[in-house]
Amino acid sequence: MEHTIGPINELLSAVMAILGEHVPRDLTWPMLMVMLAIATAIWLIRDGWGAKGVNGRVSQQSLIPFLLPKEIYTHTSAKVDVGLYVVERFFHPLWATTFLVTVAPATESSVISTLNALWGSGPALTSHWGWMLLYSLLTLLVYDFLFYVIHYCEHKVPVLWAIHKIHHSAEVLTPLTRYREHIIEGPIYAIGAALAYGFAGGLFGWLFAGSIVPATLFNIGFFAVLFGFNGAFRHYHVAFHYPRGLSRWLQSPVMHHIHHSYLEEHLDTNLAAVTSLWDRLFGTLYIPEKDEYTPWGLGPATQSQYRSLTQNITGPFRDWALMLKARSKGNQAMRHE
Ligand SMILES: [Zn+2]
Ligand SMILES: [Zn+2]
Repeated sequence: MEHTIGPINELLSAVMAILGEHVPRDLTWPMLMVMLAIATAIWLIRDGWGAKGVNGRVSQQSLIPFLLPKEIYTHTSAKVDVGLYVVERFFHPLWATTFLVTVAPATESSVISTLNALWGSGPALTSHWGWMLLYSLLTLLVYDFLFYVIHYCEHKVPVLWAIHKIHHSAEVLTPLTRYREHIIEGPIYAIGAALAYGFAGGLFGWLFAGSIVPATLFNIGFFAVLFGFNGAFRHYHVAFHYPRGLSRWLQSPVMHHIHHSYLEEHLDTNLAAVTSLWDRLFGTLYIPEKDEYTPWGLGPATQSQYRSLTQNITGPFRDWALMLKARSKGNQAMRHE
């Protein structure tokens, strides 16, 4: 019988255990401690400079306001972050479970079946750390690519922008802003993640005849740490730059400050989650200068429509209704011509 079982299928026997490990969690205390330690180092090295205020500009601060500025954490936007975080965390296990147990194994099986059909059963390689690293890297690259594609579409397609706007309506950045998203956005990214795990699992399941489970465990560590660290720090107001050369490979946290800025030159840039490869390849990479001005939010024209929690929850529906109205008006006008 041809082999159609790979690491994701095998691991599904312990779904809940995987969920705990497989879905990167970036808002953990150790991750926040690392973030605060690095921010303190920046404060020391830069003599109090490096933290951005509500206005998106860097100023000199003493340590406590540098790490935990009152104007940011008491801002309406930060309070809305809390509300959206609660809603997101409530629904997240549902999306993650649903797609991890359906889309991921189905994708994995299809990839293995396709490879079997094309080239017969796989070479049944023996796994060692080099392969494990490659498996981790491939999962990361596929995940990052799908994240890029979804995110790009969300920025360019008005119907999807109506949903993603909620993430961009944040006027200040806090680690909770990472979870600031509309309820409808959760399943979209959960499908992307499930496809990535399934694709990489399928390819490596075929190569190793399903025996690459240890690599999956290694993969979890590698992937979750990188993703988790980036996720927490990129929504923190302290500008953490990488050397320019490294930023061409990995998204530095400050590059996401640019992504949240409403300045014309910053719009639709730095769309990937972890690496800079896809942004570089598709021409959307933007490596900022030191202390570059980044006013966050949607901009003066529409910000007032996205201040309260209710406005942010109802926002996409309001936008879609307006789009439908404009469309039917357009159709009517055409009929009268
Ligand atoms: Zn975005
Ligand atoms: Zn963001």
